[in-house]
Amino acid sequence: MASVKTVALLGATGSIGAQTLDVLRQESDAFDLVAIAGGEQLTQLAAIAREFHVRHVGVTNEAHRATLSNELGPDVHIVVGAAGLTELSQRADVVVNAVLGFAGLPVTLTALQCGKRLALANKESLIAAAPLVAAARSTPDASLLPIDSEHCAIHQCLASSPAREGYPDVRRLLLTASGGPFRGWSRSALAAATKEDALNHPTWSMGAKITIDSSTLMNKGLEVLEASALFGIEVDRVDVVVHPQSIVHSMVEYVDGSILAQLSRPDMRLPIAYCLGMPERLDHRWGALDFTSALELSFEPPDLDAFPAIALAYEAARLGGAAPAWLSAANEVAVAAFLADQIRWSAIVDVVARVMDGYVADPLASLDDLIANDATARRRAHGIVGS
Ligand code: NAD
Ligand code: MG
Repeated sequence: MASVKTVALLGATGSIGAQTLDVLRQESDAFDLVAIAGGEQLTQLAAIAREFHVRHVGVTNEAHRATLSNELGPDVHIVVGAAGLTELSQRADVVVNAVLGFAGLPVTLTALQCGKRLALANKESLIAAAPLVAAARSTPDASLLPIDSEHCAIHQCLASSPAREGYPDVRRLLLTASGGPFRGWSRSALAAATKEDALNHPTWSMGAKITIDSSTLMNKGLEVLEASALFGIEVDRVDVVVHPQSIVHSMVEYVDGSILAQLSRPDMRLPIAYCLGMPERLDHRWGALDFTSALELSFEPPDLDAFPAIALAYEAARLGGAAPAWLSAANEVAVAAFLADQIRWSAIVDVVARVMDGYVADPLASLDDLIANDATARRRAHGIVGS
């Protein structure tokens, strides 16, 4: 048997976190969970620490440290904030980044800089910090495997061709999108969309932020940037195709016109297990399809007028530098404002567009530069939300 791999799961109390724990329960002989971190859900975090005998736990502030240290006793080492995430990201063979938003940046950078396998769900850090992540990926032994289902699908399809820089034999990547809860809605219907409508995703059960991103199709825009950064393919060679059944998770079209796709039921445990198990495939049935009953797959182009988020993402890619970081930061603020009932659904992408209008080219030379850009974009987004 292969040796046991140690795992750090940061963002353990979220949707990806819970599904990763499911995989680890099933594969307890192969993986040992040694570090976890989470935001607000302390009871859940403590329960995970007990169940998996985890000795290293990350929380976001000193008050949480005190509560959890009472709860878990002196044998459990508790760390705090971004420095805590940085420490925990060095503690395992495989680091699963399931933190939400830009807060996941220290996990992405540290895991790669320390030569770990990074199993990445946190797309926001990669999008915002693409040039810094690219540099960190050249660390000996570092590897980046995408948990995001579309990118995991593309990773699997690309494995069939020799990995040459820039993939000259690939014509384009085809990212599939379910279309979200508002597929087919007109602009006027969308103007009246409610929070309940937006949170009602047709095919995936996910955390609130990405569910809202799926309703605006900003998630797909972010995923275009994510695909470009992950595979080193310019965004002109990344297209979006709406596929309402969420069975084809994405496709790669080669220069000879052949298209390879990865199919499975929509269940994030499949891409999580793929990233943990590589180079082996773990034996499970989470994604297995049943062809004994009828199965229809359909495809259609996205409605770019009703969902302007996709065009904003391509524009951010064209601008380069810190523009993707601005896009993602402004979107985080706008989505949080929507979830807090401060703005309407249709205002989410408007806020992002207005922030992007004020973007001034910045090549993004350093981590400090990135953090400053993120703060600027957030400040501007808060200003627009408040006005
Ligand atoms: P979620 O809101 O359910 O969970 C987020 C997790 O991050 C929670 O454990 C929360 O406590 C933790 N967290 C938040 N801020 C933190 C901080 N400052 N420090 C430490 N922990 C913090 O979100 P999710 O849906 O699981 O998504 C997580 C990431 O995975 C996102 O980047 C999302 O885009 C990506 N993703 C999710 C799915 C999905 O199916 N849910 C699919 C693809 C990609
Ligand atoms: Mg996805």
